[in-house]
Amino acid sequence: MNRKYFQNNSKPIYKMSEEKREYHRDYYDKHKDKYRKYSKDRQAKARLIPGVREKMRISSLKSQHSARRSVIDHYGGKCSCCGESHYEFLAIDHINGGGTRLRREKIESSRLYYEIRRKAFPDTYRVLCHNCNSSLGSYGYCPHKFSKDGEWLS
Ligand SMILES: [Zn+2]
Ligand SMILES: [Zn+2]
Repeated sequence: MNRKYFQNNSKPIYKMSEEKREYHRDYYDKHKDKYRKYSKDRQAKARLIPGVREKMRISSLKSQHSARRSVIDHYGGKCSCCGESHYEFLAIDHINGGGTRLRREKIESSRLYYEIRRKAFPDTYRVLCHNCNSSLGSYGYCPHKFSKDGEWLS
């Protein structure tokens, strides 16, 4: 990297003095248990409030669904084999470098959707419905469109 460019563009970085850092570290070490207990207690208390648990569950489910929807929309919103377009039936499929479909990664977890969104939608994914997905997963082909050799039937 060009040194001059780097210098001109670097922002002043706040540097804590070694003493201060040492102080903070000590302080945290001494009160570690207190900190841990505090956050544990807070969580336990929150769970006791009627409805909070359910609210937590629903809000995490909602955010999962919206992540899922945005990802599925991005990849066309329908099964790339049979055209099924009900979100409930759709899943994201990882295209493993083409061919060898039997060894495809079969992932269907909420984490995947967040991950794909974070990575700005890489083009190694496509949408498949659960039918086509499971046929491809178990047999290596889908009677709708993919032949046994993994080629598209027309
Ligand atoms: Zn399908
Ligand atoms: Zn199919």
